[in-house]
Amino acid sequence: MANLAEYPRTKEGSNISKIVVDRDLCIAAVSCMAVSAETYDLDAEGKIVVKDANVIDDATLLASAEACPVKAISLFDKEGTQVFPK
Ligand code: SF4
Repeated sequence: MANLAEYPRTKEGSNISKIVVDRDLCIAAVSCMAVSAETYDLDAEGKIVVKDANVIDDATLLASAEACPVKAISLFDKEGTQVFPK
């Protein structure tokens, strides 16, 4: 079973309401952190965690998820539909 960590996003005006990190997939490439160091951090296990789900705009959040080489970061809209990866 996938080892998923879910982070609600409550940023006003945002179409993205949840960030999900698949901890099994994450290989600590830190490409996501290179796009947004304000959003992500590495934990003691060398896996990415979301430290602030609301700090960046939707476009930058999407870019950070797209930067992940193993697609460990998924984004969901308010209806619960996965918007990335499609
Ligand atoms: S880019 Fe992907 S693999 Fe690399 S740290 Fe971020 S979530 Fe993990």
